[in-house]
Amino acid sequence: MAQDTSRSPMERLKSYYDHEELVCTECGYEDESGGWKSETNGREVHYHHECPSCGAVREHSLKLATE
Ligand SMILES: [Zn+2]
Repeated sequence: MAQDTSRSPMERLKSYYDHEELVCTECGYEDESGGWKSETNGREVHYHHECPSCGAVREHSLKLATE
């Protein structure tokens, strides 16, 4: 019973980014205390992360299913 299937895909994606993509692709800094910021307009979710070391910004956007 390790799988938490009650969480939404969006929650799981945020969890993925929080854990897997905190290492800056530009300078290799691992932002352990930071995380992706997410915002949604109801149709898309935008994730944003700014490296505290070199300032490189990474963004992802995800279309939400509207069914
Ligand atoms: Zn960096």
